[in-house]
Amino acid sequence: NYISGNELRKKFLDFFKSKDHLILQSYPLIPENDPTLLLVGAGMAPFKPFFTGKMNPPHPRISTSQKCVRTGDIENVGRTARHHTFFEMLGNFSFGDYFKKEAIAWAWEFITEHLEMPKDKLWITIHTEDDEAFAIWHNDIHIPADRIIRMADNFWEIGPGPCGPCSEIYFDLGEERGCNKSDCAVGCDCDRFLEIWNLVFTQYDRDEAGNYTPLAKKNIDTGAGLERIASVLQNKRSNFETDLLFPLIEHAAKVANVEYGSNSKTDISLKVIADHIRSMTVMIGDGILPSNEGRGYVLRRILRRAVRHARLLGIEKIFLVPMVDIVNTIFAEAYPDLVEKQSYIKKVIQLEEERFQTTLVQGMELLNGHIQKLKELNISELDGATAFKLYDTFGFPWELTLEILEEHDMQLDKPNFDSAMKEQRERARAARQDHEDQLIIPDLSHLETEKLIVDEHAENGNIILAWK
Ligand code: ATP
Ligand code: MG
Ligand code: MG
Ligand code: MG
Repeated sequence: NYISGNELRKKFLDFFKSKDHLILQSYPLIPENDPTLLLVGAGMAPFKPFFTGKMNPPHPRISTSQKCVRTGDIENVGRTARHHTFFEMLGNFSFGDYFKKEAIAWAWEFITEHLEMPKDKLWITIHTEDDEAFAIWHNDIHIPADRIIRMADNFWEIGPGPCGPCSEIYFDLGEERGCNKSDCAVGCDCDRFLEIWNLVFTQYDRDEAGNYTPLAKKNIDTGAGLERIASVLQNKRSNFETDLLFPLIEHAAKVANVEYGSNSKTDISLKVIADHIRSMTVMIGDGILPSNEGRGYVLRRILRRAVRHARLLGIEKIFLVPMVDIVNTIFAEAYPDLVEKQSYIKKVIQLEEERFQTTLVQGMELLNGHIQKLKELNISELDGATAFKLYDTFGFPWELTLEILEEHDMQLDKPNFDSAMKEQRERARAARQDHEDQLIIPDLSHLETEKLIVDEHAENGNIILAWK
């Protein structure tokens, strides 16, 4: 039962509209009035004030497809079939209105009746003590008891505030997708049991002392991964092969002249590039510019990682810019504003990509010089301080240093490099906190792309909007 990513997004929102939900556009990736959060990473993030009761929602039931960035998953990208830095989270929310019974029944109705997922492939997890959720899944929905797994981890909370147990829906992709571990089951981090939907029942308020008081008005917060559900319905081996990402893989494979699916190493690089170009495009579209702090640093890191993986594939020329057009074709229906900002986004990426290419060439020259000297001295290890300087001052990716050293049968003094890195991270963290309030979001309303330049005099050559 093939269904495109666009159709799926629409189907989800239409379904919850039919259940009296107000459908809202995705909020931008930059959280509003939330200094605790760098980037929106879940559908519920923009609704925090509604859950805590600080503000009244425009309607007690809301549904969205929310743009999300999770940098915590960056290392997973390409290594699992299901993790992205940028993804879309489908969600339905109840602010003191309906609760578990409806949330569970509707999730089930949507995936089994509207998406026609086979019931015998679906598994459920609940919190260890959530007998109420068990009763609904078992008695009302008729899920066999041995398909409802109790898990201690199924409790959602971040610090004090509204929190509660959650219940997840998993799709069993079959034994051949599993790992070889004897205890491979729901919750295993291999690719067999795919978590598609998380239903959070915010029913408690946690105070500073850690006491849980039942909330007078209980809430529902759910999140389902658009790309994951699409992979199931499109019968693909990973999110990356769905129509939401595959055109990007195809393009990168063509430029690199490699065949997707022929080598797991090159596949990872293709997937990283496809993932990262989506993140970059949406982040820049939402007003983030590359820099050395905060969100800008996340963007810079993602862009540099993509370039680095392109080089692993043998691509040495500028290649990210044309990929923005493909991202925009994929997102034209959901995010028409990206198309309007197309030339602006491309300009930002071009400036940063060119700068980084220069960095790479310079860094490579410096490193080769060091290697030459070490060889003359018959030393086979590069010291941590030099490697760190390459990384910190010249922005040269340390993984690349390591790789080039390996090509010369040399090593890196990793412990000393790591401790320099750790110190720098602590400095950066402190700096990020200082700068968080001052983040300047450029006004994109005029899209004066020609006014965009790299300010070589600014610290670290950040991209700025020049007002000539
Ligand atoms: P996982 O255990 O697979 O990392 P999660 O438990 O961290 O997922 P939640 O925080 O529960 O995910 O988010 C709700 C839903 O959003 C998930 O069920 C999944 O469908 C989707 N999702 C979460 N993280 C990602 C990601 N990095 N890439 C794509 N989809 C994601
Ligand atoms: Mg996760
Ligand atoms: Mg999970
Ligand atoms: Mg989850």
